[in-house]
Amino acid sequence: MRFFKKFIALCGIFAVFFAAVGCSEKGLEDAASSLSVYTINAVWSDDDKTLSATQNVDYINEFDVELGELYFHLYPNAYREGARFSPFTAADIADAFPNGASYGGINISSVKVNGKEKEVKIGGQDEDILIVEFDEPLMPTSRVKIDMEYTVTVPNARHRLGYYNKTVNLGNFYPVACVYENGEFESSPYYFNGDPFYSTVANYNVTVTAPKNYTAAMSGIGIITETESDRKTFASALAVRDFAVVLGEFEQMSGTADGAAVTYYYYDDENAEASLNASLDSVKTFNSMFGGYPYKSLAVVQTHFLNGGMEYPALVYISDRQKGELYRDTIIHEIAHQWWYATVGNNQIAHAWLDETLAEYSATLFYEKNAGYNVDYSARIADAMKTYALFCERFENTADKSMDRRLPDFNTPMEYTVMTYVKGQIMMDSLRKTIGDDAFFKGLRKYYGDNRFKIARPENLIGSFEKASGKDLMGFFDTWLDGNVKTFAKT
Ligand SMILES: [Zn+2]
Repeated sequence: MRFFKKFIALCGIFAVFFAAVGCSEKGLEDAASSLSVYTINAVWSDDDKTLSATQNVDYINEFDVELGELYFHLYPNAYREGARFSPFTAADIADAFPNGASYGGINISSVKVNGKEKEVKIGGQDEDILIVEFDEPLMPTSRVKIDMEYTVTVPNARHRLGYYNKTVNLGNFYPVACVYENGEFESSPYYFNGDPFYSTVANYNVTVTAPKNYTAAMSGIGIITETESDRKTFASALAVRDFAVVLGEFEQMSGTADGAAVTYYYYDDENAEASLNASLDSVKTFNSMFGGYPYKSLAVVQTHFLNGGMEYPALVYISDRQKGELYRDTIIHEIAHQWWYATVGNNQIAHAWLDETLAEYSATLFYEKNAGYNVDYSARIADAMKTYALFCERFENTADKSMDRRLPDFNTPMEYTVMTYVKGQIMMDSLRKTIGDDAFFKGLRKYYGDNRFKIARPENLIGSFEKASGKDLMGFFDTWLDGNVKTFAKT
């Protein structure tokens, strides 16, 4: 995700914006050959603001244990009235709900395992987990078919899940299998900090039917069939770790970047061509710097969204609340997430810095490599240093300056933003100066190549830079991630 928050309330006269904001590459078909398959048929009712769906999951146990049951996240339930873990902070409410309070949720009406009807069992800390019990333990690499039917009620909100004015955001709308690690399913609730999502890659076949005035932007190339009143859009996507849809009354503009079809969906952009070009340049730049974008398509979608933007595999939200350079910055940051988060995954609850630091620093690298955009690399790093120094001064006695924390362990959204994006960017610049450009970019390429379609951990990133540089970097990263490094001058 990308945030922009005014720092002015903190700093009095200062108005600083937070940018809240040699390897082998595994091929897409190869990666997709032994994955779970989600087949979803969904119908949007514009009258009821609901999405009714059937979902079949041909699930493969990719973990090294027998599974007696399987958990699925039910993220829409965070939007229900009375949720314990709301996606919104108190400060978000007015902007998130311009038309007043509105609620959503998901109602699962049936679950079958290998064709056999099961009780619908809801659990988790906040009624946000569907528990599917198996009659027989599911052995590693074995498959099981799970069918479910559900209705998602979408709130009138500018959020990942929400409808407002011209768009319907359908992010995290469907039940997605939890990751099993450390002896249990990672079943964290919907924290308002960060992007509290964590899943492995799977193959998707998704059909969305909606009234004809809507175009469906999806995490895959849409194939459209129409009736008199409806438009049905089907898209498949291989080896993606999530699947998102935005319905909207869009104009479209398309191009290709190194073979990937990039479509910009928008409704209010006088510089749509520049936005598309920034999208194409982002894909080309990151392809050449980190390694190839594996998917065939990328949807860059202008939408109503509380924050700057949001990343999903092969689809990014760009908030219409961003203007000018901030709008372009958001496009670049969210597209960088296709490398860091989408292709190389990570546990975003435990190690949010891993993808956010890389996405934000990648945007700075983009400007360094594309001089025509007239944004200075050094100036962006200097801005980050200034922001960090201001934050440290203002909260000298109360701020926890560690970066590698679980989302709920950040004291405030501002602390999360500064430690994850701002300090992270300074850390990457410092690392680059420490090991030199050759080792730095070799390390990034190695991290990308070795971890495509997988879950990477901090030690994978550190190890890639160590291998590329021949240096022991544990001390360097410990100091930044857990320590209180202040080796740069305050301004
Ligand atoms: Zn981000």
